[in-house]
Amino acid sequence: MKKFLIAGNWKMFTNVFESKVLVETLIANIWKDNQNTTVLVCPPFTSLCGVADVIKDTDLKLGAQNCHYEEKGAYTGEISPQMLQYLGCNYIIIGHSERRTHFKEDDEIIARKLSSILDLGLIPILCIGETFEQRMNNMTNTILTKQIEKAFENIDKSLIKQVVIAYEPVWAIGTGISATPEQAQETHRWVKDFISSTYSVNREDLTVIYGGSMNDKNCYELLNLADVDGGLIGGASLNAETFTSIIETAKSISKI
Ligand code: PEP
Repeated sequence: MKKFLIAGNWKMFTNVFESKVLVETLIANIWKDNQNTTVLVCPPFTSLCGVADVIKDTDLKLGAQNCHYEEKGAYTGEISPQMLQYLGCNYIIIGHSERRTHFKEDDEIIARKLSSILDLGLIPILCIGETFEQRMNNMTNTILTKQIEKAFENIDKSLIKQVVIAYEPVWAIGTGISATPEQAQETHRWVKDFISSTYSVNREDLTVIYGGSMNDKNCYELLNLADVDGGLIGGASLNAETFTSIIETAKSISKI
C-alpha cells in the first residue's frame, strides 16, 4: 500500500484571512479516512498562527516555506526553525528554486538550514532540480548529485531517512508544463538509487515527492508512478477544490 505526502506551497499568496478561509474549506472537503495520505499546508509566515489555530483538531500538518539556520540573533527579517516549531510547524521547505534564484541561496546555506531543522526533530523538505538548459545538456543527474551531496555533507547520515526530497525541475515550476511521467519516474528512481547506495539508506525508507505544475488533471499519472511518494504543489494548492481533488486522487491510489 502506497503512502503519500501531499503538500501545498502557498508561496507569497493569501493574507491571514484568506489563508484561514482556504484551510477551512479544505478541512470541510477532505476530513475523513486519511491514513495513507498526509496533507500538509505551507502558508506564508504571517498566516502560520491563524492556520495553526484552525487546524489544531485535525490531522492536517503545518509547514513553513523557509527558515534561517540560526536559533536567534541579529538577523533582521529572518525567522528561526525554533520559532516555527513553537507555532506548530512540523515541516520546513528549504532550497526551493525560487529561493535559490531570487535570494541567491546556495548549497552551503541550504545545508546549514537542513542541519538545524533536523536537530530540532522537524522534517525538512529539501527541493532539488535542474534547469531546462541543464536537462537539455544531459546534466540533470550531475546537478542533483551536487545538490544532494552538499546538503547531506555535514549531517548525521542516520537522519537522511527523515528528509523529504522534493524533485522539482525548475522548468516545470509555475509554467503549466509538468515533467512527463517517464521523466518523473526516471529521475525519482535515480534519486532513490543514488541516495540509498551512497548513504546506505533503505530505499523503502526514502520519501521523494514531485513538484512542478502538478494539478488535478495530471496528478493521477504522476502519483501512480512507482517512485513518486507525493506532490509539492504550488499554484493548484491555492484553490481548495483543485487541491482537494489531488488529495482524493492520492487517497484513491493509496487504497489500491
Ligand atoms: C512549487 O512552488 O513548489 C511548485 C511546484 O509550484 P507549481 O505547482 O505552481 O508549479
